[in-house]
Amino acid sequence: MSDRFHTGGTAVMTKAEAMAALKEKITPVTGTEQVPLREALGRVLAEDVVSDRDVPPYDNSAMDGYVVFFDDLKVEGETRMPVTGRIAAGHPLDREAKRGEALQIFTGALVPEGPDTVFTVEEVTRDGDTLILPPGARRRQHCRKRAEDVSVGDVVVPTGRLLRAQEVGMAASVGYAELTVLRKLRAAVFSTGDEIRDPGGDTPPGCIYDSNRFTVMALLNGVGCRVTDLGILPDDPGTVRDALEKAAPDHDLIITSGGVSMGEEDHIKDVVEDLGSLHFWKLAIKPGKPVALGQIGEAAFIGLPGNPVSAMVIFMIIGRAVTALLQGRSDVEPTRIPVPAATDWQGKTGRREWVRGRLGTDDNGRVVAEIYKTQGSGVLTSMVASEGLIEIPEDVDRIEVGQPVDYIPFTEMTR
Ligand code: AMP
Ligand code: MG
Repeated sequence: MSDRFHTGGTAVMTKAEAMAALKEKITPVTGTEQVPLREALGRVLAEDVVSDRDVPPYDNSAMDGYVVFFDDLKVEGETRMPVTGRIAAGHPLDREAKRGEALQIFTGALVPEGPDTVFTVEEVTRDGDTLILPPGARRRQHCRKRAEDVSVGDVVVPTGRLLRAQEVGMAASVGYAELTVLRKLRAAVFSTGDEIRDPGGDTPPGCIYDSNRFTVMALLNGVGCRVTDLGILPDDPGTVRDALEKAAPDHDLIITSGGVSMGEEDHIKDVVEDLGSLHFWKLAIKPGKPVALGQIGEAAFIGLPGNPVSAMVIFMIIGRAVTALLQGRSDVEPTRIPVPAATDWQGKTGRREWVRGRLGTDDNGRVVAEIYKTQGSGVLTSMVASEGLIEIPEDVDRIEVGQPVDYIPFTEMTR
């Protein structure tokens, strides 16, 4: 793979242009594996799930009650019929059904050839072995038709889908015991900085605990990666170089945080350029100074900003898109929900901004987007207090209460 992230220019890109470039440059990794259904949650489907049967496979009752021939029913007045059989789920009638009879039937039980109309227990009166049916029934009421859900040959879950509970259950309902999924992306994560320390240890003066490595590893796990923890690397080019050189051959993705802001102590740039290629995409977005995208051998490299909020948000916007494209996922863009703003906001035009917030309700019970009070790029409490991001497009510099904004729940950006 040659220089994947080269854009051929130094112009500032909008988020849309960056996404288009990523879509053009990133092809999915290859390699699949078979997993049993109970391990399929959160994996990306690599082969269509195709049904070899109708679901339901036979007409069946939607209720506990009685099944009769519609044509035996009187149009006006009650119909009386003898109850001459019983059909439980899993126990089909062992003879043909006859005109003039009523058969007791249970939910999910096979409706035999002939009778086509079900009365619920509540709708009828039973007098010994005689059933009294009210007028006004509809033909095929309370009957579930064969194939009303799925027909033979239907693709019930398409390739590229991230598997949720319902996709796993759908595959089970058409008889799959295993699914072909994309192999997990192998992601390596490290933090950089002489001031960064592992939680649990000491923090000498001027040092802080590493939070980014833990947020980034958690985010990568959430999007279905197998994560290698490479720890904290000092601001020393030799050590960084050794670590990257060693990690690249066994990983699809290497993600770092910090050390990419082009300061004197930021060595990631030189090292990655030396081992492969690195490009600072100047994106018209906030948060996010230049985002570093590069490549070492076959491994994609993403250099996230060091500030904890920026690192998380840039992962959600750019990092997640990169992983989703490497995984061949069909849902690269998160869903945005337009809701009126509950808070005034003042910013700048010319860049796309993501501010932290959550949904609430106003005095009229209407759902509104609340913008959190502090928005500093290092203030992790603002992420803890929030449930999502409000996305403000390039041409908007001001939002007033009641104006519609796009709200993206964190759940949309973390899976
Ligand atoms: P840098 O991009 O290395 O200049 O870092 C920008 C800011 O983010 C500095 O205040 C760093 O101390 C902070 N920072 C960098 N890496 C981490 C990390 N892993 N955890 C928490 N804060 C960090
Ligand atoms: Mg640093």
